[in-house]
Amino acid sequence: MKTKIRKKSALVLGGGGFIGGHLAKRLKEEGFWVRIVDIKHKHEYFNHNDICNDYVAGDLRDPKVVEAVFRIETDPNHKDVIYNYNFYKQPFTNVEAFDEVYQLAADMGGAGYIFTGDNDANVMHNSALVNLNVVNEATKTGVGRIFYSSSACMYPEHNQLDPDNPNCEESSAYPADPDSEYGWEKLFSERLYFAFNRNYNLDVRVARYHNIFGPEGTYDGGREKAPAAMCRKAIQAGHQGAMEVWGDGQQTRSFLYIDECIEAVRRLMESEVKEVLNIGSDEMIKINDLATMAIGISGNDILIKNIPGPEGVRGRNSDNTLIKGLLGWAPSQPLREGMEKTYKWIEEQIAL
Ligand code: NAD
Repeated sequence: MKTKIRKKSALVLGGGGFIGGHLAKRLKEEGFWVRIVDIKHKHEYFNHNDICNDYVAGDLRDPKVVEAVFRIETDPNHKDVIYNYNFYKQPFTNVEAFDEVYQLAADMGGAGYIFTGDNDANVMHNSALVNLNVVNEATKTGVGRIFYSSSACMYPEHNQLDPDNPNCEESSAYPADPDSEYGWEKLFSERLYFAFNRNYNLDVRVARYHNIFGPEGTYDGGREKAPAAMCRKAIQAGHQGAMEVWGDGQQTRSFLYIDECIEAVRRLMESEVKEVLNIGSDEMIKINDLATMAIGISGNDILIKNIPGPEGVRGRNSDNTLIKGLLGWAPSQPLREGMEKTYKWIEEQIAL
């Protein structure tokens, strides 16, 4: 008799968030059995049926929760059946480990959240606890492979002082000097995953994201990032209004559209590339020009007012030399295209 092969399984930690929601959707479309875990009770913008088979609301700072969600129960007689998580049904029987784990859960937000200093203790404590629990449980249960999402915020400030010529080559990470505690925690956790790889053979993949944006992401409330904030401000300014932009607007950044990010993550996970890689765009833009782009999309006549505010480093751009060479990946669409899609989505949300 032919034995049924069960579906490949994926655990998306932080799947109730922006990137995690999109990633879980892609994994489900690819045929994975997907479990999401997030401290949020539901994804704000996605229908759960579209992104996962099992959604668990749980706090990954709690080792008991992490222990439970890393286990999938299977029916010994029907190998293709995977039962949903049931926290109360312990001890577990017939448990299996996940084939793939994606660790995206973090206490984070845009510049208004991570560069003011007000949230430093929470950011470091919460995210480090999650990563300590996750890496330990992933090793104990013997997961197939685990992805960790680091950030370009871990690059040293001294290489990002010139807005026209920042250096974010992967090898420039040391000597370390990130400009935020968020960046220090990311650096610590990168090292944590690689230490478990060296000592316990945990199969890890690590990427440093550079400003990912797009629909189904936070666009107000203080945790939103620049592209979403610019779109929202341009929408809300209306005809002949004004919009505030933090700093002198001459600081530079690059922004990667969400679908491109997910493609790069999947390629990295499918590959044997063990180096940490940048996942970002190398289309660098001044923040005032990003505001002008959002204004152009709105078709309105809006004045930019530069005001003091949290800014982060003067310049940042993704260096894609390594990822191009190793994975053959590079962004395929210009920033403007992604901004148009994001603007349209935010406009619809505001109109709701
Ligand atoms: P997000 O805030 O939308 O998603 C993170 C999710 O983690 C949220 O849904 C949050 O509720 C969840 N979470 C936080 N603490 C938790 C806990 N204790 N237990 C369970 N869930 C918890 O952020 P995102 O933009 O989707 O980012 C995903 C990952 O990528 C994060 O690790 C982030 O640091 C990293 N990253 C993102 C960007 C970017 O531009 N979006 C850039 C660099 C790095």
